Amino acid sequence: MFDNVFSGGVVNKAIEKGLLKVNVHNLRDYAFDKHRQVDDRPFGGLPGMVLKPEPIFAAVEKIRQTGNTPVFLLSPQGKTFNSRRAEKMAGYPQMILICGRYEGVDERVIQNLITDEISIGDYILTGGEPAATVVVDAVARFVPQVVGKMESVQRDSFSEGLLDYPHYTRPRDFRGMAVPEILFSGNHADVENWRREKALEKTRKVRPDLMEHLNNDTKG
Ligand code: SAM
Repeated sequence: MFDNVFSGGVVNKAIEKGLLKVNVHNLRDYAFDKHRQVDDRPFGGLPGMVLKPEPIFAAVEKIRQTGNTPVFLLSPQGKTFNSRRAEKMAGYPQMILICGRYEGVDERVIQNLITDEISIGDYILTGGEPAATVVVDAVARFVPQVVGKMESVQRDSFSEGLLDYPHYTRPRDFRGMAVPEILFSGNHADVENWRREKALEKTRKVRPDLMEHLNNDTKG
């Protein structure tokens, strides 16, 4: 599941350049019983399976380089992942992401091992793997030199609390759909103002909740 995602694109180039390392570990390698069992039936009845605590604790204890390494569980019950969090996580020398399956993981992992739970949205995936790839990709963009120009990362949606402004490229006129004249004015300040206006317009329309954060941040 991970090879496909990390074998191409920007994250792969970053790995090849040594800017970051992504190590994938199979929980089964940390299950020491005869059947290398990583899941079991839930106590208290009801259907489904739960990931057992022993292999998860063993894996984290082996993999973490220091006691301060943050350990995150991908889980729909976590706070929703966002750009601010991705930027913060890019500063960690190492972090561990645990992917759940089935009904999730034994609660003792949540209470005693992990730093925090991370959700990528209010919906249920069948496993944490796609969520982990989302997190790795978003965090990687904030690692210096992974994206050619840091300025473009800083200008993307959310970095200033707003959605991005519209982008245009050649041709100047496509089937009668013309690129806004202001972009050819040569006036840098006017172009910047126009972009800011468009970003505000879109954010107000599509994500009014972001506007509230923006107002609160400015207030305080
Ligand atoms: N029983 C869990 C619940 O209702 O909260 C759902 C378990 S889900 C079927 C299996 C695994 O997929 C979870 O343990 C988690 O690792 C992952 N997962 C599912 N939805 C997710 C989301 N929105 N964000 C992050 N991880 C998610």
